Amino acid sequence: MDNCIFCKIAKREIPANKIYEDEDILAFHDIHPAAPVHFLLIPKLHVDSLADIDGSHHDLLGKMLVLTPKLAKEQGCSEGFRTIINTGRVGGQEVFHLHFH
Ligand code: 5GP
Ligand code: ZN
Repeated sequence: MDNCIFCKIAKREIPANKIYEDEDILAFHDIHPAAPVHFLLIPKLHVDSLADIDGSHHDLLGKMLVLTPKLAKEQGCSEGFRTIINTGRVGGQEVFHLHFH
């Protein structure tokens, strides 16, 4: 997606404060943190939102979810954390590239 800010971050066309990367997934700090620890986990593959997920994304989503507590603990969330996936305009989504907060 040409005009997608998170695709540009995934392609390193714009900078981000990265905390994790592999061939499928990238995690970086939110530019406007709403909590002491606030990072975003994205697939490198462009998917607009959770509403656009299908069976072909099964392994990718599983991998993202398994990574979530590992990264949260590494970032200092030893006592717990909240994971948010805003979906669609009505769901408060502003960046239309799937991401976990
Ligand atoms: P949404 O409302 O779509 O779930 O959340 C989008 C999040 O992306 C917001 O928390 C916002 O601060 C963050 N964000 C938007 N643009 C950028 C950016 O260029 N870099 C980073 N690191 N975060 C961004
Ligand atoms: Zn994208």
